[in-house]
Amino acid sequence: MAEIAIIGGGPSGAMCGEQLARAGHKVNLFDEHLAWEKPCGGGLTHKAIQCFPFLLDNSYPKKLVQSVELISSQDHHATLEMPHPIVIYSRTVLNGLLLDRARDAGCKLQRSRVMSVNTEAAKPRYCVEGEWRDADFLVVAAGARNHLLPETRPLQRDELEMTQGYFVPQNADSITIKFLPHFEGYIWSFPRNDHLSVGICGSMSSHTSAELRGHLQTFVEKHEIKTENAKFYSHVLPSPQVRTLSERTVVGQNWALVGDAAAWVDPLTGEGLFYAIRSGELLGRSLAEGCPEKYPERIKAAFSSELEFAARIVRRFYRGSFLGSAVTTRMVQFIRRSPVFRQLMGDLFSGTQDYSTLKRRLWGQLGITISDFISSVLNLDRPASARIGHTGASGD
Ligand SMILES: Cc1cc2nc3c(=O)[nH]c(=O)nc-3n(C[C@H](O)[C@H](O)[C@H](O)COP(=O)(O)OP(=O)(O)OC[C@H]3O[C@@H](n4cnc5c(N)ncnc54)[C@H](O)[C@@H]3O)c2cc1C
Repeated sequence: MAEIAIIGGGPSGAMCGEQLARAGHKVNLFDEHLAWEKPCGGGLTHKAIQCFPFLLDNSYPKKLVQSVELISSQDHHATLEMPHPIVIYSRTVLNGLLLDRARDAGCKLQRSRVMSVNTEAAKPRYCVEGEWRDADFLVVAAGARNHLLPETRPLQRDELEMTQGYFVPQNADSITIKFLPHFEGYIWSFPRNDHLSVGICGSMSSHTSAELRGHLQTFVEKHEIKTENAKFYSHVLPSPQVRTLSERTVVGQNWALVGDAAAWVDPLTGEGLFYAIRSGELLGRSLAEGCPEKYPERIKAAFSSELEFAARIVRRFYRGSFLGSAVTTRMVQFIRRSPVFRQLMGDLFSGTQDYSTLKRRLWGQLGITISDFISSVLNLDRPASARIGHTGASGD
């Protein structure tokens, strides 16, 4: 392929551009802002750092956070110490870092908005600054608000979350996560190098923006977070359902979607940065080999079963109950009580424990109540061997 056009210079587009330019392709990347403060927590988990060590080994400003405070809807508190830090960036810095790498690899960056695309002919076309141009392949990396959808459907309300938040000129050393009663989502406070990113995310089909605003206001007042001089934002976040991941078309003959545009986000946690960067890398590699058809199978092998797993349990996690209390409340209580469960949750939060191997770790290490709790959230049956002669771990 001689020429590839990438629409969007966020993490997915920048990484895809870098891969393709390194492989010797002519790459034009368009972003209406280039490096900007896109509404985001900015937190990268250990799996992102393991896969892309340059995200930690660089001189760009960032904050490493090792502890998370969890607060239940009934105000129980628990602290998790994570084995590996969450690396938190301002998005202007993170996007800048990834775009610098793309430019250094030979990718041509242009600050422009792409208005329209057309993929009907063999060569896809796109309209920028009033002029139609063509390319050999079109990468749509335009994020969750993307309206450029060649031959695929937009995300529906139940496949999206609303988010609202503030960038607050204040410092902290740990992450805070607050759960809310009967609420599919959570409030977060992520400390960055020189400010906090504080916000709320909630299912778009279950909650209104006024509801989100009210919860966030109560939280910032209670935690004495001063929002008078803070910048307010709202944005959307993909929250894929099983059908989104299994049925929605993300690649065609001469185009493909990456990152948020493809809805590669963990619907339980809202983590999207890793999936954006990884999907950009995998598409870039497939295109560099001249085999775009390899992209979906590579995504499947890399992470889509993890996202499907999360999509299956998300409602039970936020809406379910265990022994008469909300699942999220029980989780906070068990973290306080059981060191083994605390360690497991620390691994999950930092990104060293994935969902698919969680099952193996359950029985034998944790007591019966906590194993039953996790099984009920994950909808698992306890194996027969675990029912006989099971010894309760501390905290059970
Ligand atoms: C409030 C909030 C908090 C979040 N917190 C976290 C977190 O802590 N950790 C985490 O892992 N994930 C988080 N996410 C998710 C994460 O922000 C996204 O998954 C990630 O940014 C996706 O990267 P992307 O490159 O696919 O899209 P984006 O980062 O959205 O980039 C898309 C780019 O395309 C450009 N663009 C759009 N349309 C056009 C056009 N027509 N022409 C030219 N350019 C265009 C935009 O300017 C933008 O730069 C959060 C999301 C939200 C909304």
